[in-house]
Amino acid sequence: MKITEVRVIVTCPGRNFVFVKVITDSPGLYGVGEGTLAGSETIVAESLRHMSYLLIGRDPRRIEDTWHLLYRQGYWRGGPVFMAALAAVDMALWDIKGKIAGLPVYELLGGAARECVTCYTHAGGRDAVECEDSVRSIMERGFRHIRCQVGPYGGEGVIGELPPVSPGTPPTQVFEPTPYVIGAPRLFAHLRDKLGMEVELLHDVHEQLSPIEAVRLARELEPYRLFYLEDPLQPDQREAWPLLRAASATPLAIGEILTSRWECLPLFVNRWIDFIRMKPQHAGGITEMRKIMVMAEPYNVRSAFHGAADIGLVGQAASVAVQMVIPNFGIQEYTRHPEPAYEVTPGACEMRNGALYPSDRPGLGMDLDEDLAARYPYQRSFMPLVRRADGTAHVY
Ligand code: MG
Repeated sequence: MKITEVRVIVTCPGRNFVFVKVITDSPGLYGVGEGTLAGSETIVAESLRHMSYLLIGRDPRRIEDTWHLLYRQGYWRGGPVFMAALAAVDMALWDIKGKIAGLPVYELLGGAARECVTCYTHAGGRDAVECEDSVRSIMERGFRHIRCQVGPYGGEGVIGELPPVSPGTPPTQVFEPTPYVIGAPRLFAHLRDKLGMEVELLHDVHEQLSPIEAVRLARELEPYRLFYLEDPLQPDQREAWPLLRAASATPLAIGEILTSRWECLPLFVNRWIDFIRMKPQHAGGITEMRKIMVMAEPYNVRSAFHGAADIGLVGQAASVAVQMVIPNFGIQEYTRHPEPAYEVTPGACEMRNGALYPSDRPGLGMDLDEDLAARYPYQRSFMPLVRRADGTAHVY
């Protein structure tokens, strides 16, 4: 069996996604994978086209060997763009293997260790009362884990947004740490007072704080018993992690911008974190993410796979496949995608009562409608830039 074609599809059914279709010489047999990297979609697509030269003619069943061929062939290895492209190919090869076996990918990985993958989703509002209302309506949908924030993306410290300098360039977000660090504990005091202690509440700092600010916040949030505090620091602040860890018993989650086992290993062995936010789509696919979760297991680190809107439905299916089988499952982030995304990539995992259920179809259970994808062409888009109120780039 041979790979005959690697099709790279960049499409925008509501937001940009990068998909790959790996086609074989076996009639009708192909696999679908995803390597969307928000704000850098076209670079991943080019990386995939480059990889295709190595893939044509190879046996698609040799997943492990192909992974190492792609990872090691270039001498320059790793990084978010490359690992996202590698992830897309890896997912497509697992999809093909599942189709050959007539089994869902989670069966090939060891079989279901749970019935479904429990999720959290996002509550918000202009103030604590609106956020409380938002939590209550999400609980009515069956969720028992909810991320809470007041204000726009980035929380209460975001005091404004400046328009792009020119069309198609990034918007600027204006952030001040002091109102944020004061406001976040007040929000959780209100929520615990009104909602009690049983519902699991989460909070995301979006890496906006200095180490000492993060220490203060983690301590002040301690009485409100968070499920976890997400990205209190940039991952690069490695020397600060022990300070933060020693300062409070608030559980810590990090890793949505990590792409390599070498980045997360010190976090595990030093027991600096409780949850890892990496996911197949940005960390080299199902093959590598399965290994990373095995590395995490003896250090009591559980999964909390990133599931923002730039993790498309194929990437989501890969995350669910891995988290169906690992013993150290924690939680999966969930956001509803724009409706056309469900038509471009049909077969998505079913969301029911705050949990994702994998399809029992062979492979990842997903397809890719190329004709429909072509009707939603790529739209130029970047992640926002963060500045302080006086215009200084926010270095944290
Ligand atoms: Mg986050």
